[in-house]
Amino acid sequence: MRILVSNDDGYFAPGIAALAEALSAVGDVTVVAPERDRSGASNSLTLDRPLSLRRSANGFYFVNGTPTDCVHLAVTGMLDHLPDMVVSGVNHGANMGDDTIYSGTVAAATEGYLLGVPSIAVSLVSKAATDFSAAARVARDLAERFTRAPFQQPVLLNVNVPDLPYDDLKGTRITRLGKRHKAEPVIRSVTPRNDTVYWIGAAGQAADAGDGTDFNAVSDGFVSVTPLQIDLTHNGLIPAVGEWIRK
Ligand code: MN
Repeated sequence: MRILVSNDDGYFAPGIAALAEALSAVGDVTVVAPERDRSGASNSLTLDRPLSLRRSANGFYFVNGTPTDCVHLAVTGMLDHLPDMVVSGVNHGANMGDDTIYSGTVAAATEGYLLGVPSIAVSLVSKAATDFSAAARVARDLAERFTRAPFQQPVLLNVNVPDLPYDDLKGTRITRLGKRHKAEPVIRSVTPRNDTVYWIGAAGQAADAGDGTDFNAVSDGFVSVTPLQIDLTHNGLIPAVGEWIRK
């Protein structure tokens, strides 16, 4: 089992170290991750300059690019073999509901999935996480499941883990994405040079955290596993828009 590991918090992040260590019990792990925190990078590719691939003292590779760059570069140019899995994380913070649109953690896994590799994004639901071991162990459990029971088609799983000790997790629920309220407004600030600048505000609170959602599972103490798809087509609107464009 060959496992490619990436993230969006950067190759130095404690979450990726915990993940790589946990997954090394299941297979050969190669880490290729951004050289700095690229949280919120979504699925962006760097097209306006070349990328460098460097190796740190602990064996992790790092790239001066986005999470998507890392997985793309690794799978299409660096690795001798297609990996059997891509695992991204463990992210410092939740990626639930609309977060998945902006997330670089989910994007790294999405890139694996688009390249035909079963892929998992793992996030720890915590604002001040210090212990990533339980979430890393959840990732290891899922990777072991893949070796025991391989999926016949590429699959993209978004996994969120409550910030609890492993033995206190209630179990695992299969979920759909919930929905957040719109984000907090930008925060205006003035620099020492008297320029006005703006910080993007925090994500909104959960708006749809009802039964079956990722928000709901995590707040009940369960690991949330959401299968994702990338086709953005709104099939339900095809008839109505079809009529509208003839008006
Ligand atoms: Mn992140």
